[in-house]
Amino acid sequence: MEQIQVMGVPGLPLIHEGDAIAAMIVDRIQMRDGDILCVASTIYSKSKGYTKTLASITPSPRAERLARLNGEDPRFVQAVLDASADIIMEHPFILSELSFGHIGVRAGVDQSNIEDGMLIFLPPDPMGAARELQKEIKTLTGSDIGVIITDTCGRSFRRGQTGNAIGWSGFPAIRDFRGDTDLFGHVLKITEEAVVDEIAGFANFVMGESNNGVPAVIFRNCPAWTGHDNLYFTRDEDITRRVLKKEWCQ
Ligand code: GDP
Ligand code: MN
Ligand code: MN
Repeated sequence: MEQIQVMGVPGLPLIHEGDAIAAMIVDRIQMRDGDILCVASTIYSKSKGYTKTLASITPSPRAERLARLNGEDPRFVQAVLDASADIIMEHPFILSELSFGHIGVRAGVDQSNIEDGMLIFLPPDPMGAARELQKEIKTLTGSDIGVIITDTCGRSFRRGQTGNAIGWSGFPAIRDFRGDTDLFGHVLKITEEAVVDEIAGFANFVMGESNNGVPAVIFRNCPAWTGHDNLYFTRDEDITRRVLKKEWCQ
């Protein structure tokens, strides 16, 4: 098996609305067929203008209440409420579901890596974003690659944030081992591996969280996998969601 290579894309500038990030990436690193390009949702959102100034936001009574409860700026809380399709938990922080299925702390709204007083929202259609970048890179370079849009997310049960895939294109999210046999011939009944999250996690490690300035990472020589795209639990399957929702939103 060829060795897997992981390369941060060097020299990208600060991204602003209107920037053609696919072109900026291919100007700085050569793509090959089969590469997987991970792009931080932050720069995709900045390039599309999915941002807002705090000053432009008028908080509702609910935002005022949750801001007092959680010790946050009511305008920031309003932005989180606006970005949420469903609130799952209100305190000690807002946990919400976005319309594309992702559940995240503060709806993934960020105040870092952007000018003071500005907010960055997650892209409303990250699957479409991944497809768009994949297509643009095919047009620009002729290379058939896969794309993952990442975001740094908190998680249950363990300390520490990790990178998650919020959009992907070119491969299934999940590698399905069900029906395979292990080394001893036992048939695997449950095992599904969230490969896109594993790759996003390592990409996030290369990106860092602060002033690295590396919002794009390429993986080369990854073996292919087959499976499916049902990354998000359905509401019936999601036990954690059900319990939290019952606790916080009677
Ligand atoms: P998120 O995980 O998508 O919320 O993005 P982060 O804010 O954690 O940023 C991920 C990586 O991208 C870090 O290395 C940041 O320094 C870098 N980054 C964020 N914005 C920009 C930008 O506009 N230009 C460049 N070159 N890097 C950026
Ligand atoms: Mn983020
Ligand atoms: Mn991050």
